[in-house]
Amino acid sequence: MTDTADLAGSSVLVTGGAGFIGSHLVERLATDLNCYVFVIDDLSNGSAEHIQLDHGNIEFVQGDAASQPLLNSLAEQVEVIFHQAALVSVEASVKDPVESHQRNAEATLTVLEAARMTDTRVVVASSAAIYGHPETVPISENHSKHPTSPYGLDKLTIDQRTQLYGELYDLNAVALRYFNVYGPRQTGDYAGVISVFCEQAEQGTEITIEGDGEQTRDFVHVDDIVQANLLAAATEKTGAYNIGTGTEISINKLADRIKYLTDSSAEVTHIDPREGDIRRSCADISRAKEELGYEPTIELEEGLKTLIDAK
Ligand code: NAD
Repeated sequence: MTDTADLAGSSVLVTGGAGFIGSHLVERLATDLNCYVFVIDDLSNGSAEHIQLDHGNIEFVQGDAASQPLLNSLAEQVEVIFHQAALVSVEASVKDPVESHQRNAEATLTVLEAARMTDTRVVVASSAAIYGHPETVPISENHSKHPTSPYGLDKLTIDQRTQLYGELYDLNAVALRYFNVYGPRQTGDYAGVISVFCEQAEQGTEITIEGDGEQTRDFVHVDDIVQANLLAAATEKTGAYNIGTGTEISINKLADRIKYLTDSSAEVTHIDPREGDIRRSCADISRAKEELGYEPTIELEEGLKTLIDAK
């Protein structure tokens, strides 16, 4: 079984480490595992305030993950690269597919090349967006892939390239296909429905649901995503893994739970559905369970409570 304690005291690099998921990963690596953590972030979406720079074993570099010289020089100094940096917005990718390609596909190629040159383990953030409209649910890794946005297509390229580097160059490379991640410090518009609903419920304004609300999602807490990254870094396995909870909830039920937990009197209203929105999403996580020892630990109800209590 994979033992994340093997990572203790090692030097690692987290790209996008000032963002939502990256900053939680940095925190766990630097505090619980006492790693020396290099962070690259261009602050296009994250914030340096998300990282505890006074910690002593975190070194922040404001820079572009697509810079090969920067990546090469840092890769030489670490044992694992966690690549989280991305342009994380479906809408932004639809508006500017070229920028999405540069910031997602090209930046990941740079990271993988740096890993290949230095034979460094690499864990890459992929996404459930690669599957598009699922034909069967829960979605297994072998499900067909028809992304519905430039973001999804770029993530599919990233995912496949990571697997190819594992096979072709014998690189220790893993792609993690995150489903809908939530937790403290989530910003922006991507999969932020929980943050948006919490804010709307607390302000007592309307809780706005896109479409009829019967669409489902698999919401996974950021702490479980962090754990999956650590397991992926500690394993000898290569390949791609779904990381979710294996359960789904409708957006209507989610809105009800958030209303209840915040004791909110906000009205629930329905607006036009989001174009291209998928109907159901739920991860089959059996491969990650079997091969990585991944087990989601935070149920949605508990995750929502801690998120709301922390505000
Ligand atoms: P985020 O926007 O909070 O974090 C991404 C970080 O990367 C930001 O801090 C941003 O400033 C930085 N960044 C972007 N381009 C960069 C570049 N070229 N060089 C350096 N830094 C750059 O987003 P997040 O939700 O934390 O997402 C992290 C990863 O997880 C992404 O790869 C994303 O595609 C993936 N993902 C997220 C979700 C989710 O639900 N949040 C779901 C599936 C996949």
